Amino acid sequence: MTLDKTWYTEKWQGQGAAISLRVTDKIHDEQTDYQRIEIYETESFGRLMTLDGLVMVTDRDNFIYHEMMTHPAILTHPNPKKVLIIGGGDCGALKEVLKHKNIVRVDQVELDAGVTRAAEKFFPALCTSNNDTRANLVFDDGIKWIQKSAAASYDLIIIDSTDPVGPAAGLFEHGFYRACFAALTDEGLLIAQSESPLFHDALINSMRQDMNKSGFETLSTLLFPQCTYPSGWWSATLASKGSLNQPRTCDVDTLYYSSGIHESAQVLPPFLKRKLEQKI
Ligand code: SAM
Repeated sequence: MTLDKTWYTEKWQGQGAAISLRVTDKIHDEQTDYQRIEIYETESFGRLMTLDGLVMVTDRDNFIYHEMMTHPAILTHPNPKKVLIIGGGDCGALKEVLKHKNIVRVDQVELDAGVTRAAEKFFPALCTSNNDTRANLVFDDGIKWIQKSAAASYDLIIIDSTDPVGPAAGLFEHGFYRACFAALTDEGLLIAQSESPLFHDALINSMRQDMNKSGFETLSTLLFPQCTYPSGWWSATLASKGSLNQPRTCDVDTLYYSSGIHESAQVLPPFLKRKLEQKI
């Protein structure tokens, strides 16, 4: 730590690399029943939230992730009305989903109420839709929630979870995807944050295989930059029971998402194409 300024550093596990953000103040530090929530003021990324020491969200770059976790799936579905978000406690994905007027209800099932309470206090710009009459904020385990969901309850399921460790590990497994398949309508779509294409290609491959084994016929992994996540390059994997429609025209305000971005995000570089087509 330097005398006048300090640095927040996240070492990217097993990669011999890290990210550091110069921080000017620590404004929140809380141990909940599930994880440690810390919030910092940074010199150039606005506020930073970490969970168990890992970057979750910054003011400066969260828009890329939240837009890419929501608009591609919403616009690929012909007419989504009922959405389930699992995780998403910072409420950025909820805000993007509720920009779409055809959505009639969003169940957001976040394990840790502390994350949402902290987001409402320190990231108010992400929480502007929390009181929307269509939003239903639930604090529970998404794995339990999906298991008790009736068949064909949702048009879209968004898995905005932490990394596949601890309580989130089960959100990356075959049994969970099978339960999601049952809870989706026939035209239903699932999109899951699928980590870094550079660091975690094997995980993405196993996620896709498990989604396919769960009945999802068509898969598309979308790639996008995410400056403050491991490697700075992130992904979300879209799964459909049938074929994937051409996306509808985007009629909501966005900063990163566009039809061109949507199309290009689905183009896999050769190394990844080879890896993701390997049977495991
Ligand atoms: N954008 C972040 C990323 O890609 O790592 C994820 C943001 S969001 C804050 C992740 C949320 O998933 C956390 O708030 C965490 O509490 C929640 N979570 C983890 N496991 C969960 C589970 N089994 N059910 C519901 N929420 C869960």
